[in-house]
Amino acid sequence: MPYQHKSLTEQPISLPLNKVVCIGRNYLDHIQEMNSVVSEDPLLFMKPKSAMCDMAKPLEIPKGKGACHNELEIAVLLKSSLKNASESEVADAIWGVGLGLDLTLRDVQASLKKQGQPWERSKAFDRSAPLSSFVPLAEFDNLDDLRFTLKINDEIRQQGHTALMLHKIISLIAHMSTVFSLDAGDVILTGTPKGVGPLNDGDTVSVSLDSFFSLQTKVIVQ
Ligand code: ZN
Repeated sequence: MPYQHKSLTEQPISLPLNKVVCIGRNYLDHIQEMNSVVSEDPLLFMKPKSAMCDMAKPLEIPKGKGACHNELEIAVLLKSSLKNASESEVADAIWGVGLGLDLTLRDVQASLKKQGQPWERSKAFDRSAPLSSFVPLAEFDNLDDLRFTLKINDEIRQQGHTALMLHKIISLIAHMSTVFSLDAGDVILTGTPKGVGPLNDGDTVSVSLDSFFSLQTKVIVQ
């Protein structure tokens, strides 16, 4: 079955599959763990629609490409287009919020960085953006006070809090829409907090988004 966005009740959401737009370096603690520097303008990159897959199904990591790291991020699903949008237009265009993994081939990325090349080979491969179900926007009181957690084999590896984002969700999406048009079915990945690390064959990965949901999945290296 091809991937389709779905709601918490497992109902398919009738929006097309589109691109995934991501921000790098949006949490200071992750910038520090990577010895990176804060970018003046948000560091943006994209993944194609073939990157999207269901996070509840096993995570398929490509073999022979070095370490593949977890980056758990808040994912935002858009239901309408945005261009040079105001913050209230952004809020009106959001279908809902869930979790996404920005799977990253860290060794490949390090070599690309060294050569000054773009990151697609490390971040835009097929199934590099596993997504959870989405919770309708109306269910959230405050997107800037959401906590999310990733555990590997029952050990906490990442604990994020959206209050600590350098670029907050709504203003980030407004900014993205000044760089390129956003469309219905696009997913925005909003950056990872610290705690990235390698995923290994057979690992059990558990994620949760505040009190909204949690899910468990497995890692398969193939
Ligand atoms: Zn990321």
